[in-house]
Amino acid sequence: MHNISTTVIQIPTLSPSIQDLPTELQSFPRVRLAHLPTPLCELKGLSKSLQGPRILMKCDDLTGFADGGNKVRKLEFLVGQAVSEGSDSIITCGGPQSNHCRQTAAAAARCGLACHLLISGEETENSHIANLLLDSIFGATLHWIGNRNREEEMENVATKVRHSGGKPYIIPAGGSNSTGTLGYCAAFIELWNQLQDANIKVDHIIFPTASGGTQAGLALGASLKNFKGKITGISIDQSPDKEQEYKFCAHLAKISNEASQFLGVTKRFSESDFSISYDYLGAGYGVVGSLEQEAIQLFGNYGLLLDPVYTARTFGALIQLIQKGAFLPEEVVLFWHTGGTTGLHAYPFKTLIKTNL
Ligand SMILES: *Cc1c(COP(=O)(O)O)cnc(C)c1O
Repeated sequence: MHNISTTVIQIPTLSPSIQDLPTELQSFPRVRLAHLPTPLCELKGLSKSLQGPRILMKCDDLTGFADGGNKVRKLEFLVGQAVSEGSDSIITCGGPQSNHCRQTAAAAARCGLACHLLISGEETENSHIANLLLDSIFGATLHWIGNRNREEEMENVATKVRHSGGKPYIIPAGGSNSTGTLGYCAAFIELWNQLQDANIKVDHIIFPTASGGTQAGLALGASLKNFKGKITGISIDQSPDKEQEYKFCAHLAKISNEASQFLGVTKRFSESDFSISYDYLGAGYGVVGSLEQEAIQLFGNYGLLLDPVYTARTFGALIQLIQKGAFLPEEVVLFWHTGGTTGLHAYPFKTLIKTNL
């Protein structure tokens, strides 16, 4: 029915290529978990059907570790640091369907570390599906914390681990500190090399943003490579009030600056260096509306998957931006697929699919 819609520009190799990292990054402790580089594809059929510009996709759904996704890139550095410090347990936090918790549980298991996950909300009979199911398969210990403060609860668990003679390593929500940021700095350089090889110039990069490590790392990598295109995060969960917006940008600037200092780079970031759209928050975090449904169905028509929380919202936003004429016909847009498809299994059929059943 369709033309071939997805053209692989570069065939990924299974062995990661460390030499693609700047020398400064090579000296950081890093455990190799992801299959890198991830593919860079072109969505030809999709861009034709949307009458849009050329659309490329960076497939971090295919990082190949524990069901894929973006968090493993940060975890390579975070868990690398934990191991190099001699830690024996990892503590982190997230919602019941956290992709970050799933990948952290797997990374800890792979490295022989214990893993404590602090899960917000209340456990129900139906909680243990999709991501949370995998957390248990990877052997993590789950602590349900209701709506109590996540940082305090992580400190409490860390204290208990220390009292029993262990050495804990705390990873903040989403792995979004300066160490995690290095993972997406490396990811940008990986993309840059693929674009150089394929001789393609990208004008816009669009991706979901939530805890910020992805955006901070992309910004840092882009500045190292003097990238001239525009990088826009589609906010998934930040409230669009001015003070929150400012706080989020300040957080991005802080972790990018710390990471750039690790690298010995002189570039300093400020709040205005980050572009974020708050126009697609719909009915809130994790709520699938028609924007997300349509994006999921459109991808499905090409044999491709989006996740219900992050990438469906972001690709839905991209469709609307195309329809609004936000891009020139000759521009090239890159959609960064950050994974999360495990989350599809946590939603009932009728939520994801428009149906009269
Ligand atoms: C966590 C996550 C994001 C957001 O990345 P941040 O670095 O937290 O901003 C995007 N997509 C998916 C699938 C994720 O799990």
